[in-house]
Amino acid sequence: MADTIFGKIARREIPADIVYETDEVLAFRDLNPQAPVHVLFIPKRTLATLNEATAQDAELLGKLLLAAADYAKREGFADEGYRTVVNCNEHGGQTVFHLHVHLLAGRRMHWPPG
Ligand code: 5GP
Repeated sequence: MADTIFGKIARREIPADIVYETDEVLAFRDLNPQAPVHVLFIPKRTLATLNEATAQDAELLGKLLLAAADYAKREGFADEGYRTVVNCNEHGGQTVFHLHVHLLAGRRMHWPPG
């Protein structure tokens, strides 16, 4: 599958403001933040969209969400609250085709999203 900007970030070929890392997950600040805290959690291994995930990826998908929750606790905004979002394909608003979980925090979120 095609490489993306996030693949290059995962391989440290281009810079990013990395805030969290495990063996399989990397997180860095979004270039165009939509909240005071806006961090993207990606698997280091490339997976284009949620549609490509299989049962074999179940643990990895869980690790992405657990990483987001761990980061929220570490940073002290877990109790106040936050939002996690995975956009998929055109109608989901996905623009970078390397699966990622958005973590948004630091302001009150609205529902439904636009
Ligand atoms: P999507 O629309 O695919 O769900 O989210 C992609 C996100 O990646 C957007 O929020 C966008 O601002 C962010 N983004 C795009 N290119 C870069 C980049 O080169 N570096 C960083 N840190 N974020 C990026």
